Order: sequence, then structure tokens, then C-alpha cells
Amino acid sequence: MKEIYMDNNATTKVDEAVFEEMRPYFCDLYGNPSSMHFFGGQVQKKVDEARNRVATLLGASPDEIIFTACGTESDNAAIRSALEVYPERRHIITTRVEHPAVLTLCRNLSKRGYRVTELNVDGEGRLDLEELRAAVDEDTAVVSVMWANNETGVVFPIEEIGKIVKEKGKGAFFHTDAVQAVGKIPINMATSTVDMLSISGHKLHAPKGIGVLYLRKGIPFRPLLVGGHQERSRRAGTENTAAIIALGKACEVAGQWMEDENTRVKAMRDRLQAKLLELIPRARINGGEAERLPNTLSIAFEFVEGEAILMLLSEKGICASSGSACTSGSLEPSHVLRAMGVPFTCAHGSVRFSLSRFNTEEEIDTIIRELPPVIRRLREMSPFGREFLDA
Ligand code: PLP
Repeated sequence: MKEIYMDNNATTKVDEAVFEEMRPYFCDLYGNPSSMHFFGGQVQKKVDEARNRVATLLGASPDEIIFTACGTESDNAAIRSALEVYPERRHIITTRVEHPAVLTLCRNLSKRGYRVTELNVDGEGRLDLEELRAAVDEDTAVVSVMWANNETGVVFPIEEIGKIVKEKGKGAFFHTDAVQAVGKIPINMATSTVDMLSISGHKLHAPKGIGVLYLRKGIPFRPLLVGGHQERSRRAGTENTAAIIALGKACEVAGQWMEDENTRVKAMRDRLQAKLLELIPRARINGGEAERLPNTLSIAFEFVEGEAILMLLSEKGICASSGSACTSGSLEPSHVLRAMGVPFTCAHGSVRFSLSRFNTEEEIDTIIRELPPVIRRLREMSPFGREFLDA
């Protein structure tokens, strides 16, 4: 069975061109870029090229790019650095809808005496900027707000947020987890208010286990990992050269495909959304009124279980994800949908389709054909759903 992969916010296929670019750096060109000899030197050149390519996609300068092991590491490094730079400041601002890479760290820090403000979102997943304005004070060390949400695709107004942080924060750092945004929507650090930004390779067709922390020139930084002098002493540890080279290529390719992502991929997502709303009663889009990433569709079907939908789709080769993933065995719906106040009956029946440039119109047709009977079948089995079968 050939899979229909629509779970690209979880991870992406490595682009063939990206794989070809990294392939020689395992068995043939395996030198250490820090070595003095020519064999290491040629790898160093490719690492430099990769750094340039990442910088180009971000409108940044190459020395603002620090390679890390993943998005999670970049998030942790950024927030912890801000707290070390400002030991006297005890306040952190973030949002209720962050990825656990940020939220769990902040909640752990709050147990160690930091004051953590988690900003609320409205029913469409949008932030209240006045709440942010009221929260930022002279005690704030860092504001960490994601660029785009991984579950709903809702995009936050990062530059407006940055302006507020700069106006009111008296030097507070502004970090954004841009893991879901980079490669999907244009980002330009040259004109941005962002001080630090996190990227993850495996969300943009590079391999897993590579990330980037963008660090604006002049922003003081305390490294998470200390040891060797790699990454100009900002991230110790021998570089994951093949993955760095892959990420450089992936960023170059992402730049070339950005327009396609915003037109063809968005058109496919919009068609899928419109057809599912037309064919399935009692369905609603999570974050549908907000600005969203072009590739993401989070859709709730009342009176059914997201996990059951995913299992039946999976039997047909369709890979999607649930917005109500049961964490640690509990049946709690996702923290993002709860923060948005999505009713319990909808949050449980939420499914996320996240597309990439590798998806096709035929695949969209298949989902439009296969999903309505799946929902119907599940509602037939549900004591609450039966009355809405023909609603
Ligand atoms: N931040 C966001 C918004 C994400 O979606 C993810 C991955 O799902 C991460 C951070 C973590 O990235 P990584 O898997 O590279 O640690």
C-alpha cells in the first residue's frame, strides 16, 4: 500500500536532492571540520556553504547561525541563555499554545522560582496583544512566542509582538520558535525585531537531529553546551557535518519552493477543507478565521474520537495526526485546543492534515472520498453522534 503522507508538521520526507548533497559526508568526506589538514578543510568549506544557505533563507548573516541538534535544543538554549544573561530578572513570558520544547521548560523554571506568564489565545488561536503589553515589565528576561502553531497552523504577528517587547521590555530578549514557519512562509531577519529564532531540519525536508539557533549580532549569549570551540564557542561538540550540509541544501530548496508552498499547497489545503466541510456535517476548522500556515488543516468532527479516525484512515494508507493526542495515557485533549476553548466534544474529534510540496491533487481526492464514510461509520457507533448523521 502506497502511503498518503499528510503529517508533515510531525516530520517530513528528506528531499532526494538534500540526501544526495549529504551522502558523500559519511564514508568518503568524513573529516573533522576543525582539523588542520586538507581533508577536514574541505568539509569546513561545505559547512560554511551550508551556513550561508541557511542565512540566505532567513535574510541573516552567516555568523548569526548556530547549528544545534534539534529545534528543542535551540529553544532551550535561547531561553536559558536569556536567563543567564539577566540573572536578576525573574520573569518569562510565553503562550499557552507553545510546543512542549518551550512550555515544559518554562513550567519547570516556574517550579524553580521564575515567574512565568502564559499568554492566552482566543477561540481562533489568536493572541491578545494587550495582554502581552500589560505583562512585559522591567523584570522580564525573555519573551518566547512561536511564529506558527504546529497543531493549528495559526501564525502569530511576530513583528508586532517584537515591537511591544522592545518598547516595554527594557532590553528583554525576544525569542521565537519558528520551527513550523521556516520554509513555509517568508521570514526576513534583516528587518525583524526577533533576537533569537529556532529552526528544526526535519520539518523542512532535511534529516532529523539537526537544528539552528539564529542569534542576532550583538545579542549576548551564554551557551547551553560548553567544551570545544565549535560554532565560535556558542555550541560545543563536533559538528554533525552531513546533517548540517543537508540542512543548508534544504534551506536553498525551501527558498525556491516557497511560492509553490504558498499557492499550490495552499490551494490543495483549501480544497480539502472546503470539501470536508461540505460533505461532513458538524465539522469545524480549528483556527479557521485566523491567519494560518498554507499547509495546515486542523479540523474537528463532533462526537467522534480523533484516534479512531486516524486508525481507520491509517488502514487506508492515509497518515494524519490527532489534535487530541492522549498524553501519558490520559484522555485529555491537546493543550492547544483547550487553550482555544474548543468544546470538549470537538477537541476530541480533531484531526490535523499537514501537507508538503510532495502531496498531489489525487491524494486530496482520495481523502475527500475516504474520510466522510469513516466519520459516518464512527458516528453510527457513537450514542451521541447518531442523531447528526444526516444533519
Ligand atoms: N517547536 C515546534 C513548533 C515543533 O513543531 C517541534 C516539533 O514538533 C519542535 C519545536 C521540536 O523540534 P525537534 O523535533 O527538532 O526537537
